[in-house]
Amino acid sequence: MSTTGPEPKPAHDEPQHSWGNMSDAHWSRARRDKNTEALEYYRQRSRAPGVAGGGEARNFYCMQCDGVIPHDFRGEHCPHCQAELDERIKRYFNWVEINEPPASDFKALLPIALAGLVVLALVAVGLFFWWRA
Ligand SMILES: [Zn+2]
Repeated sequence: MSTTGPEPKPAHDEPQHSWGNMSDAHWSRARRDKNTEALEYYRQRSRAPGVAGGGEARNFYCMQCDGVIPHDFRGEHCPHCQAELDERIKRYFNWVEINEPPASDFKALLPIALAGLVVLALVAVGLFFWWRA
């Protein structure tokens, strides 16, 4: 019997070798045709304006054209497609940040402020009558 022929295929319950020539079970081959939708999405983003230039360490992306926008960019419109930019919403590479400014505390603090004013007025009236007596 020759020893140069192909090795017998391992049974299913036998663990695959992680050394030697890459077989079709290697992840880069076994997953070759998977996630095509995600891969196409990233290929599309790679063609967006400014992406080939590399951008900077921190930059964000246009919601409309996926173009790179410098992080310190000050302007109301995308430099690539002129889409309107909302300064509260920033799209980073794989997440979107929405900064919602907190609502005013005025209504919540109003009763406390009024109670303080009432106490102050009572003290003033009390001092007034104490001073006159
Ligand atoms: Zn744009």
